[in-house]
Amino acid sequence: MRPITLNCRCGKVQMRLDAAPVAQFYCHCGDCRAVTGGALAPIALFPAPAVTITGGDTFTWTYKTLPRTRCATCGTLLFGEPPGIGMRGVSGFLLPTERFEPTFHIRCRQAVVAVKDDLPHFKDVPTMFGGTDETVDW
Ligand SMILES: [Zn+2]
Ligand SMILES: [Zn+2]
Repeated sequence: MRPITLNCRCGKVQMRLDAAPVAQFYCHCGDCRAVTGGALAPIALFPAPAVTITGGDTFTWTYKTLPRTRCATCGTLLFGEPPGIGMRGVSGFLLPTERFEPTFHIRCRQAVVAVKDDLPHFKDVPTMFGGTDETVDW
């Protein structure tokens, strides 16, 4: 994949992605909802070394064990970094629309809005994330 550079909403922070995403999905968990202010969080998971802040000031807040990094000026969420897995979950809505291609939904058991599409809707997380492939029926 050719590297791509993303910007926060105000343009002060630049973030470079140097690899293809490992997975792209939507998370419906209560934590993502509360910290993002959305009904679900679009996430593009990359190997952590492939996600680099190349300009601008950022600030990182940690809720429970998950630090999330935002632009220090406009507050746009850039990425979260779950401890111990060597991955960064980039906010999918920062990617150009043709590059954000989610293939499943996770933590649908906690969802407040049923998103009806053709993707699998896992109750919790799929086996690739150490869960089961159980789905909800929407
Ligand atoms: Zn900004
Ligand atoms: Zn979540």
